[in-house]
Amino acid sequence: MLMLVDLHIHTTASDGRLSPRVVVDQAKKCGIGCIAITDHDTLAGYLSLERSGQSDVTIIPGIEFSTDLPKHEVHILGYGINSKDAELCRYIELLAESRRRRVAKMIAKLQKLSFEIEEVDVARCAGKAISLGRPHVAQALVDKGYFASSHEAFEAVLGKNKSAYVPHYKLTPQEVIALIKNSGGVPVLAHPGLVGCDTVVMQLIRDGIKGLEVYHPKHSRMESEHYLELAEQYGLIVSGGSDYHAIPGRYPETLGEFRIEKAWLRRFPW
Ligand code: AMP
Ligand code: ZN
Ligand code: FE
Ligand code: FE
Repeated sequence: MLMLVDLHIHTTASDGRLSPRVVVDQAKKCGIGCIAITDHDTLAGYLSLERSGQSDVTIIPGIEFSTDLPKHEVHILGYGINSKDAELCRYIELLAESRRRRVAKMIAKLQKLSFEIEEVDVARCAGKAISLGRPHVAQALVDKGYFASSHEAFEAVLGKNKSAYVPHYKLTPQEVIALIKNSGGVPVLAHPGLVGCDTVVMQLIRDGIKGLEVYHPKHSRMESEHYLELAEQYGLIVSGGSDYHAIPGRYPETLGEFRIEKAWLRRFPW
């Protein structure tokens, strides 16, 4: 039987616009039987669902960690981690605090560049988010009329190594892979096509990445085929997700718009 899945979804716990509860309701409505909540550096969204308990949609615990290499941004998804693991929890707290300081630094840089923006402007956009991020800053800049879209704000000032960019807390991909494995989870490389360099992807495979996110809305068909081949060659998990944020103007704007069939996945243990 056809089953739809979505293993990469953000919520209001990080930079998504919909609460975890609404995400689950939408998944149910559009016939997605299995989802993973993969907020940036936090499990808060997933945990709120675990507490509320529901059985219509299978929910896999997930997280998306950011790491910065000098020239590349590498995002690593962790599936099935033990949310009570002490070391994992310690890192998650550290990362939340570091993200708050990082946003303050970005605001200071923007002020030096003559943008009139304050922490309260970003806080308004972040709402109750645990993980603050560049999309919150981008939205504040849009609200102030500096840019027509978040994407423009990224292109102009917030993108990697642009004038207001501040790197993430320094965790290497190797450290993230170890952290996920030590907390009982499976590390999967998010959107390898966006890493933009197969030498880096190959190094991550040698470092112990267990899967590739083959299906992602920013991958071309050719990229998906390429990473599917690579996954087959190295016996890796084949995963897929929509990277849904519910941000207007950012594809996919609705859940289910980017379809992933469970049958396309390989070696995914859930
Ligand atoms: P951060 O975690 O603060 O580094 O922000 C990462 C988030 O910014 C991810 O959700 C990305 O999809 C988003 N992002 C990265 N580049 C762009 C861009 N050019 N336009 C819009 N969003 C972006
Ligand atoms: Zn995001
Ligand atoms: Fe990502
Ligand atoms: Fe993501």
